[in-house]
Amino acid sequence: MKINSNFLNVKESYLFSTVNKKINEYKETHKDCNIIRLGIGDVTLPLPKVCVEAMEKATKEMGVKETFKGYGDEQGYGFLTQAVSNYYAKKGIVLDKKEIFISDGAKSDLGNILDIFSIENTVLIPDPVYPVYVDTNIMAGRKINFINGNYENNFLPLPDENTVGDIIYLCSPNNPTGSVYNKEQLKIWVDFAIKNNSLILFDAAYEAFITDKNLPTSIYEIEGAKKCAIEFCSLSKTAGFTGTRCGYTVVPNDLEYDGVKLNKLWLRRQTTKFNGVAYIVQRGAEAVFTNRGYQETRKNIAYYLENAKIIGETLRKLGIWYVGGENSPYIWLKCPKDMKSWEFFDYLLDKANIVGTPGAGFGENGEGYFRLTAFGSRENVIEAMKRLEKLDLFK
Ligand code: PLP
Repeated sequence: MKINSNFLNVKESYLFSTVNKKINEYKETHKDCNIIRLGIGDVTLPLPKVCVEAMEKATKEMGVKETFKGYGDEQGYGFLTQAVSNYYAKKGIVLDKKEIFISDGAKSDLGNILDIFSIENTVLIPDPVYPVYVDTNIMAGRKINFINGNYENNFLPLPDENTVGDIIYLCSPNNPTGSVYNKEQLKIWVDFAIKNNSLILFDAAYEAFITDKNLPTSIYEIEGAKKCAIEFCSLSKTAGFTGTRCGYTVVPNDLEYDGVKLNKLWLRRQTTKFNGVAYIVQRGAEAVFTNRGYQETRKNIAYYLENAKIIGETLRKLGIWYVGGENSPYIWLKCPKDMKSWEFFDYLLDKANIVGTPGAGFGENGEGYFRLTAFGSRENVIEAMKRLEKLDLFK
């Protein structure tokens, strides 16, 4: 019996464990400190009431013989795929219900989708980025090429004549940088994918944070994308579903490689290895797409975006270069005085009792950068920014 030794090639992630270790050590010697965490990647506001009510109703249905539900369709209940399809229709994107697959979140599908692709494909991943893309491909033993996000391109890399990749990951709005591709930039990627017979895996987990009407919230706003892209969405950050678990993946019927429709392959994969998302959760998710759901979720998102704005304003005042902070809950800043990511982490913890996330944890190009998030409370954000402004470093 042999293990999949590719797993041994996955780097241990020490990022958040090191962050926590450093905080605990600091607290040991500074008992009265009031540490503000601006590194949180999880939502903090509770579920919208409309979702809670829908799930309460669904829970009651499960306790009554006439309305009880056993196994549902693996790809999701029709009421939810229809609601998602209607959501896309409002963006001017026509999707058949069968092109939408309900999942227990974007992370699972981002990993599982690799089942349907040959190991021989070369993968192209931006650096820095959400680490799941890298690790899932290493586990499968695929070769990875990186494309550089950096100061020069505002952390929005674009392909050039040397770019190679059969499977291309794009994340917009991006985690960790908060930067968002515009339509012209996405069109360059779509054209590249079509020309090279590549496939784009488009992670739109933060699409709901886009308030600028000119920015695309879906790759299907770009002509040709249905022929070369799968889109992953999540209700985690949109509606506070990080602990409730629901997302959806769009696999257009037009996607065809090696003469095979990817939609058919993915359906086969899902019906074999997945048994669907809980009925109760899907009813909660359906509520997100109602008018009331829209109002309630946007209220929470507006709260986070205001936090991001406050952080951005302070950074601008202090002359710190950053991207994100608009149309995204993430702010990606250049560490002042050319500090390294962990050096700035230690400095902020010690001098201001503020915790963020060192950019170096998201890829080589993250060194010298730092991620702040807008998921904290307003009071904490305001207090943290006051502390930042007082630092000797900026005097
Ligand atoms: N994609 C990105 C870019 C993320 O940052 C996250 C979570 O932080 C996910 C996907 C995972 O989302 P989900 O909770 O739906 O699995």
